[in-house]
Amino acid sequence: MQSKQPTVIATWPFGKTAAQSALKALLAGKSPLDAAVDGAQAVEDDPTVHSVGFSGIADALGIVTLDACVMDGKTLDCGSVAGLEDIRHPARLALTVARKTPHVILVGDGARDFALQNGFRPENLSTEASVKEWTDTRPKPPKPMGIPGGADNHDTVTVLALNSSGNLGGCCSTSGLSHKLHGRVGDSPIIGSGLYVDDDAGAAGATGVGEEIIRICGSFRIIESMRRGLSPQQACEEAVKRLHAVATKRGKHAARAAFLALAPDGRIGAAASPDTHFDFAVATPGKIEIRRAIEIPA
Ligand code: ASP
Repeated sequence: MQSKQPTVIATWPFGKTAAQSALKALLAGKSPLDAAVDGAQAVEDDPTVHSVGFSGIADALGIVTLDACVMDGKTLDCGSVAGLEDIRHPARLALTVARKTPHVILVGDGARDFALQNGFRPENLSTEASVKEWTDTRPKPPKPMGIPGGADNHDTVTVLALNSSGNLGGCCSTSGLSHKLHGRVGDSPIIGSGLYVDDDAGAAGATGVGEEIIRICGSFRIIESMRRGLSPQQACEEAVKRLHAVATKRGKHAARAAFLALAPDGRIGAAASPDTHFDFAVATPGKIEIRRAIEIPA
């Protein structure tokens, strides 16, 4: 088999941190899944990123709750945690769920207990800056039903990695929509919505308003389109068109959402709904760049 160029793509400008660290791990011989988790963890640890891991913005009750998932394209092993409190590395915990349990998803206190049993340390995830941002962006007066604050107070780090053998791995991690209703789970820990990876077809991931991404099973949809022969770019664009179609059917405009895809041969796709301004990082040996995804009009 022809050797592939190791490639990592990751959402948003902070994806540069993720892509750099995931590529380093890939080149050191780690599997694409382990590399993707290393990449996500670098962003979870960054206190200046208020939508992922440590220093994430809290929910409507002022509690930081994290969502993450992982998927291995070789085995289709997957793991996920949702509504996780006090643990700064949800992506690694999702990997531990995949590797050490017969289950796929652990939530809330169960996920936290599992973390503590597996050597993760509990800590306060809020920082002065994240509390200030939560306070500044808090809906005033408070809106009913935990309707989130500003349209920009969320983002996910989604990392897709390809190694030289053509194996793929992926990972998503987020604190979700800020000011969300306590207990709300977005697309990011839902296998098939925030992430889907299958070496036979490709890897896809999402960011944006999770409720809309879940409604179209965004990442699974992209992978099945690629399996049927669409390029990663065509498949991402098709998913955004589907977002528009579903929004129209519901009498709404498509929410801000974006998709990324990586084929087993290294081709890349990215597309977003209007006004998303979706930048993503692409890393290959010796090169890292930020690209802007095309926005698909309604
Ligand atoms: N998809 C995430 C969620 O809905 C947020 C984001 O990526 O902007 O929780």
